[in-house]
Amino acid sequence: MKPETQTETAAIEPHEAGLPVVILVADDEPVNLSLIKRRLEWEDYVIHTAQNGSEAVEKARRLLPDLVILDVMMPVLDGLQACRLLKEDAATRDIPVIFLSALDDVDTKISGLSLGANDYISKPFRVEELLARVAVAIRLKHERDHLERSAEESRLRAEAASEMSMTDALTGLLNRYGLQRSLQREVSEARRYARPLSCLLLDIDFFKSVNDTFGHAAGDTALRQVARVLTGSVRGSDVVCRHGGEEFLVLAPETGLEGAVSLAEKIRLASASRLYGDGECVFTITLSVGAAQLGEHESAHDMIARADDALYHAKEAGRNRVEAAKQ
Ligand code: GH3
Ligand code: MG
Ligand code: MG
Repeated sequence: MKPETQTETAAIEPHEAGLPVVILVADDEPVNLSLIKRRLEWEDYVIHTAQNGSEAVEKARRLLPDLVILDVMMPVLDGLQACRLLKEDAATRDIPVIFLSALDDVDTKISGLSLGANDYISKPFRVEELLARVAVAIRLKHERDHLERSAEESRLRAEAASEMSMTDALTGLLNRYGLQRSLQREVSEARRYARPLSCLLLDIDFFKSVNDTFGHAAGDTALRQVARVLTGSVRGSDVVCRHGGEEFLVLAPETGLEGAVSLAEKIRLASASRLYGDGECVFTITLSVGAAQLGEHESAHDMIARADDALYHAKEAGRNRVEAAKQ
């Protein structure tokens, strides 16, 4: 067997701009092999060789070349079998294959092409034909790689955009849209397993005067700090969302009204027992909270509306308090 060249041991990444184009050529006839190798190297391709189908499959898996040229009749594993193995393996499936063979019968050509080969060259061939077909296969592979990369980039951009549209930029919490998915999931889980589900609607008391007294930037800081008080007070399975302006919503799965009211009290106390703002401008903040448990035949929307009514009563009753919604 021919000794391995230095490049054969290095893992060559799929081509990027400026990187060499790597071609694996498999032929059991050493004279053919070295002739093709030399001619393709003149065109600046990096050539690896194999002398049977099995060696070709092993090297293709290891080197992930840009193109595989397979002789059809080879020992151990013929070109058709090697092609089948390459096309069955997700890692090598997209590498284009060109068959090179003295067999000029149509059936063999059809078998090769139906296995997923890109092209077929009958021996004897003019070297210009080989070069032209190699160039086409490489160009198509580059174009497809480029399309795949752009599709992946678009997918990631769309994912990031949808993530952003569901997240509140100031606090990093879910926004009202982001809440919808959790709401649907939690309501259907609660119904399926007959488990309680509750929500809290929390509103900062007299927040307008925080802005008026300390400025909008201090108000923003306080909103972020309140968000942290909330996330620090709830369970991992609870969902916290900025429902709007200075209003937050907590969705508490597997929690009945009593548990929701205790959670609301815990949050109310935690929020009232710390300072907000930063530097020289510090102030206190209190929260009013409305709590509601999902009724048996009630929509999530109606549960939140009842929590909102309860919140209104908490404000009316003097603020800095928790009110439970009537069932
Ligand atoms: P109440 O106790 O009745 O809830 O009084 P309040 O002042 O908190 O309520 P009001 O609805 O009168 O005012 C809400 C304030 O919240 C006014 C608005 O400017 C402020 N606010 C809403 N969103 C933001 C924000 O993103 N940043 C800042 N700094 N302020 C905000
Ligand atoms: Mg308020
Ligand atoms: Mg409000």
